[in-house]
Amino acid sequence: MALIVAKFGGTSVADIERIERAADKVAREVEAGHKVVVVVSAMSGVTNTLVGYCSDISPMHDLREYDTVVSSGEQITAGLMAMALQKRGVSARSWLGWQIPILTDNIHGKARIENIDTEELHKRLDSGEVAVVPGFQGVTEHNRVATLGRGGSDTSAVGLAAALKADRCDIYTDVSGVYTADPRIVPAAKKIHKISYEEMLELASLGSKVLQTRSVEMGAKNGVPIQVLSSFEEDVGSARKGTLVTTEDQIMEQELVSGIAHNSDEAKITVVGVEDVPGVAARLFDPLAKASVNVDMIVQNIATDGRTDMTFTVPRGELDLAVKTLKDDTGLSYSDIVVNDNLAKISVVGIGMKSHAGVANTMFRTLAEKNINIHVISTSEIKISVLIEADYTELAVRSLHAAYGLDES
Ligand code: ASP
Ligand code: MG
Repeated sequence: MALIVAKFGGTSVADIERIERAADKVAREVEAGHKVVVVVSAMSGVTNTLVGYCSDISPMHDLREYDTVVSSGEQITAGLMAMALQKRGVSARSWLGWQIPILTDNIHGKARIENIDTEELHKRLDSGEVAVVPGFQGVTEHNRVATLGRGGSDTSAVGLAAALKADRCDIYTDVSGVYTADPRIVPAAKKIHKISYEEMLELASLGSKVLQTRSVEMGAKNGVPIQVLSSFEEDVGSARKGTLVTTEDQIMEQELVSGIAHNSDEAKITVVGVEDVPGVAARLFDPLAKASVNVDMIVQNIATDGRTDMTFTVPRGELDLAVKTLKDDTGLSYSDIVVNDNLAKISVVGIGMKSHAGVANTMFRTLAEKNINIHVISTSEIKISVLIEADYTELAVRSLHAAYGLDES
């Protein structure tokens, strides 16, 4: 018998029929003798609609009231889920964030969980009741509802699993797990059976957006095993058919490379001919940080005649803001700003890299064989990323997937 937190995302509770299917899964886990806490998202599209209402009233709306509005989507699903469980003869009760309470900080719109009181939940679970909790919401010390940022239901689920010391947190979604590459690009991509938190963080921030990043960080910090699985398939979480995100030492067969991620949303900026003196990087990147531009890869060229070039990447949607900020707010002297907004970042990720040489080499050789030019390279302990022309994204991802032996079954 295990204590399981089962979270159902928006597409898994998109309509009454799907809520019923999700309730079937929970009922099966309960029949098998498990204690279950269900965390639900809003029905798909609902949160977007609610966010839209707020912007329609005023683009400058009060974030406390924003939280009051957008947290309501999850409340609806929680009540419906509890009813659907009761209809199946499962004893169930819904618990809103303030009723538990899930205490958060005061940063409305993207609050962080500070504490979860589990006493009452444990009592209920022990008595055989299923607790249904709306994701995404908590309550502040000032007794106001707060939400945890878009995608925050994942974090609610992992947070509850950590606080309850659950055996596992199952995240039911519309994909059957985490893949070695995007299956829409690489037909030979395989579901990863187990992956470390570290790798998952790299893959998530690189575009495999299955879990909210914060939920993975929280899982890592508290050692919560997180399983990603599809609610559209027959198996329940306890069948363990999804992808398990866990600690490195739980993974016996460590692949050299676990996955190939791509992000086709990159723009490159080169500031040509900046002075090569102390403090230039700070003067360049401080204003960008203040303008909330997400700078990713950074390269500084070798200096000639006291001048150098600075190259870095930003999300394509932030390109105009970045260029404007560079021109208006840095006060730097430079000869030109050159941009390229048709680039993609391709990354190979794997904890096996920590202890093996030659991974980067395979990447460069593979891309060279396909005649793909590399603009920028960056590395971390478990990741190598390159920036290439966006048109070559599919070719690069497929070739690398094969080169690292991920195609074979
Ligand atoms: N409903 C919220 C959102 O769409 C939270 C979640 O589903 O994770 O962002
Ligand atoms: Mg989500």
